[in-house]
Parts: sequence; C-alpha cells; structure tokens
Amino acid sequence: MFDCVFCKIIKKEIPADVVYEDENFLGFLDITPINPGHILLVPKEHHENLYDMPDALLAKIAPLIKKLAIAVKKGVNAEGINIGMNNERPAGQLVFHAHFHIMPRFSNDGFRHWRGAPYKKGESSEVASKIKKFLT
Ligand code: 5GP
Ligand code: ZN
Repeated sequence: MFDCVFCKIIKKEIPADVVYEDENFLGFLDITPINPGHILLVPKEHHENLYDMPDALLAKIAPLIKKLAIAVKKGVNAEGINIGMNNERPAGQLVFHAHFHIMPRFSNDGFRHWRGAPYKKGESSEVASKIKKFLT
C-alpha cells in the first residue's frame, strides 16, 4: 500500500528493530515506546484496522500476542503487560495499518488507566440491548 509506513517496514524499505517475523506477521519495537520493549505486531497484508482483518488472520494472531507478551515481559523484566489496539482516529489510531500494541508495564511507571463512570439507573440494560442487536 502506497505511503503506509508499516508496509514500508514490512518491505524493509525503512528500518525497524524487528523481534518477530513469520509469513503473515511482523513484530517490531515501537519508535516512541511507552516503556522500552513496547512492540507493535502487524499483519504483513495491509488491512486498515480490526474490522478489516480477516477472521482467519485474527485467529492466527491471538496466540502470537500471547507469545510476544511473555517474551516482552521476560525480556525487559516487566511486571505487567497491556495489549492495545486503536481503531479509527477518535480512538487514537494514527497509522492506518492494523496493529496491536504490546506494552510492558511497571508498578511505578506513572501510567494511569482511563477513568470510568458508573451508569445511570436503567442505562446499562439499554446499552447492552443496543449492542446485542448486532450480535444475533
Ligand atoms: P496508533 O496510535 O496508530 O495505534 O499507533 C501508531 C504507533 O506507531 C505509535 O505508537 C508510533 O510511535 C508508532 N510508529 C509510527 N511510525 C513509526 C515508525 O516509523 N517506526 C516504528 N517502529 N514505529 C512507528
Ligand atoms: Zn500498510
């Protein structure tokens, strides 16, 4: 895909610190890690985001995420791992080639989780129904 930075990394047109490669996927260090060892795992085929990724590819990536998470944890002595994926601009996606973030975490690294807010009375069942309509 023209002008896609991750396609260029996959084609070795621009350098990256690759930690994992097979016929379908590439894992490499994020250039601006939240902590050292932060990895991006990408399909070699260009898919824009999660919705575009074929189920067969997603089935293959789940065990890989686990494998890389354990390697990152051991490799940088992380105390925990966050897995993340930003889909679409409002969710923070900046590179429109699907990718999973595998992020090492430490007790005192200063990162906080998003703040949640409780539902109003009766709201949660309404929201659950709206979602369930698309799951039947
Ligand atoms: P997004 O916000 O789309 O989920 O995250 C994109 C990620 O790609 C960012 O964390 C950013 O640091 C990383 N990134 C962007 N350009 C490059 C690059 O050229 N090389 C590497 N290794 N990572 C990149
Ligand atoms: Zn791409």
